[in-house]
Amino acid sequence: GEFTTEVDTVVIGAGPGGYVAAIRAAQLGQKVIVIEKQHVGGVCLNVGCIPSKALISASHRFEQMNHSESMGIKAENVHVDFHKVQEWKGQIVDRLTSGVKGLFKAHNIERVEGEALFVDNDVVRVNHGYESSRYKFNHCIIATGSSPIEIPGFKWSSRVLSSTGALALKEVPKKLVVIGGGYIGIELSSALAGFGTEVVILEGSPSILPAFEKRLIAPVKKKLKAKGVSVFTKALAKGVEETANGVTVTAEVKGKTQTFDADYVMVTVGRRPNTRDLGLDLAGVELGERGLIHVDKQGKTTNDKIYAIGDIVSGMALAHKASYEGKIAAEAISGVASEVDYRAMPAVVFSDPEIASVGLSEEEAVKEGYEVKTGQFPFAANGRALSLGESDGFLKIVSRASDGLVLGAQIVGVSASDMIAEFGLAVESGMTVEDLALTIHAHPTLGEIAMEAADVVLGHPIHIA
Ligand code: FAD
Repeated sequence: GEFTTEVDTVVIGAGPGGYVAAIRAAQLGQKVIVIEKQHVGGVCLNVGCIPSKALISASHRFEQMNHSESMGIKAENVHVDFHKVQEWKGQIVDRLTSGVKGLFKAHNIERVEGEALFVDNDVVRVNHGYESSRYKFNHCIIATGSSPIEIPGFKWSSRVLSSTGALALKEVPKKLVVIGGGYIGIELSSALAGFGTEVVILEGSPSILPAFEKRLIAPVKKKLKAKGVSVFTKALAKGVEETANGVTVTAEVKGKTQTFDADYVMVTVGRRPNTRDLGLDLAGVELGERGLIHVDKQGKTTNDKIYAIGDIVSGMALAHKASYEGKIAAEAISGVASEVDYRAMPAVVFSDPEIASVGLSEEEAVKEGYEVKTGQFPFAANGRALSLGESDGFLKIVSRASDGLVLGAQIVGVSASDMIAEFGLAVESGMTVEDLALTIHAHPTLGEIAMEAADVVLGHPIHIA
């Protein structure tokens, strides 16, 4: 039978947007239920951020073991047991997702398994198998995330993989064609190449990672090449034919038709928001362009009771953005006057080496009318980077010329993902390059690169002439 339960807040989707929103709303005194149709933790914990980083670090470990001769270390008979790699990856995912379930319990958040859809402007129905139930809410936060885009001519199969399929591979492929050189394509290509896969990347635009400055990408391109990855740009994938134990991909590369044989093809050309089958029209929630939900600075949709966060609203489709918006939306529905400010939102590519940026690039700052002063410092002039055997890359600071206000930073190099945090803080709290330069950074650390780049902006670096 179907009965209606009344609750303060219903959260749809338990990814990094939804689970964070649920916890924050519970902290603020609300009775919350979370509806999740598949896995707690969403894409990020189960088939995104976390499993991809596990594969990347296992692959990196393997590569380092095989390539440390210059440090005087020669390893023999280093083998990959890929089944074990996958098992280890699975344990990390299990540990994190059980952690989230534990947090739900600790906050008295009720978890409902099933697929939610709106049947009215303040009621959702949850279908679980043959049963269904209804929840009438004061507020609802939609956090249903996104799914990989399937392109014409490439229907998902056991050989035509999305990122989810690639993360679940049972073997290290001998050959892999990757369609799409965005961050997901590059991260997974790099990980599999490290394990020994011969990878061909087909990218439609003139460069891989087209969202980033050319100079930031150069060290990544160099490393991909060293790993034996072939990159074809201006390459349009046309179709795939499945053979007895593999695939043949046809593409038009710079106007010429070419074919590529491989064991698998992975298609990572973008993701689309999961907003189609939610009954949004019955709830009075309007969609904007590309199926994204239109929201204000608190995440409120065209229905006052309903908020939307994460990959289903515009902006970068990243986990920390989803979580940030989740906190804001939970606070907003609890009567706190919070609103989003994306100025200090970082973006990271876990390539080899890593790329990270926050705030404005030089080009963006100039476009916004700032007179800028920049400073760059190379990893190769840093003792810690050299002693790690990872000296490729540089850090660039973009500041306002008049007073040194930090507008943004871009980094390519080892641990860029961690180093960017200092610049997030600088942008968020309105620090100047002088603040960074006057902050004593421990020696020898990668953090000194930030301090020295600030010295470069000020015109008096110590370790470069
Ligand atoms: P999701 O994580 O997609 O969660 C949505 C949840 O809603 C899902 O669990 C889904 O089952 C559920 N759901 C959907 N519809 C319904 C319904 N009708 N009823 C009930 N439940 C429903 N981001 C980073 O910041 N860093 C990274 O390193 C990174 N790496 C990535 C690697 C890969 C391979 C991929 C694919 C993505 C990666 N991302 C990364 C992106 C990140 O995973 C997403 O931005 C993030 O998961 C979005 O969070 P979300 O809460 O909006 O949605």
